[in-house]
Amino acid sequence: MEPRPVPEALARRAARADEVEDLVALLLDHAEGPREAAAAVAETLAVACLGDNHLWQDLQLGSRAELSALMTWWFPALVRKNSADMKWKKFLYKQLCEREQLFVCKAPSCAVCCDHALCFGPEDGARRAVAAVA
Ligand code: SF4
Repeated sequence: MEPRPVPEALARRAARADEVEDLVALLLDHAEGPREAAAAVAETLAVACLGDNHLWQDLQLGSRAELSALMTWWFPALVRKNSADMKWKKFLYKQLCEREQLFVCKAPSCAVCCDHALCFGPEDGARRAVAAVA
């Protein structure tokens, strides 16, 4: 039998394992609910963060609102921290930067930052089709 091609997400996971582990650790530090299930959700979120689209799209969800509901259920402490409603992927990476005391933002405050529109605002778009695995 021919080997099945490695799905894109698994290839990215392997290439960026440290990043995924940092994201999983961040998420689990703010998780509620059964640990094993939270760990599975955290891993899924972390791998989806490696995608090129809005996080909700790479999670195959229907909208950003669904992602916010998922975050509220599993990681309510992170939701409380994201009181300004930053885009979730941006918010998670900003949390990682703050943990490492890395300050890569272009401005001292989001309110005066030229990248404000990249970090906040609507995340519209179409639901992504589920990729077929050959
Ligand atoms: S808006 Fe600017 S300062 Fe705020 S998180 Fe984004 S890049 Fe950083």
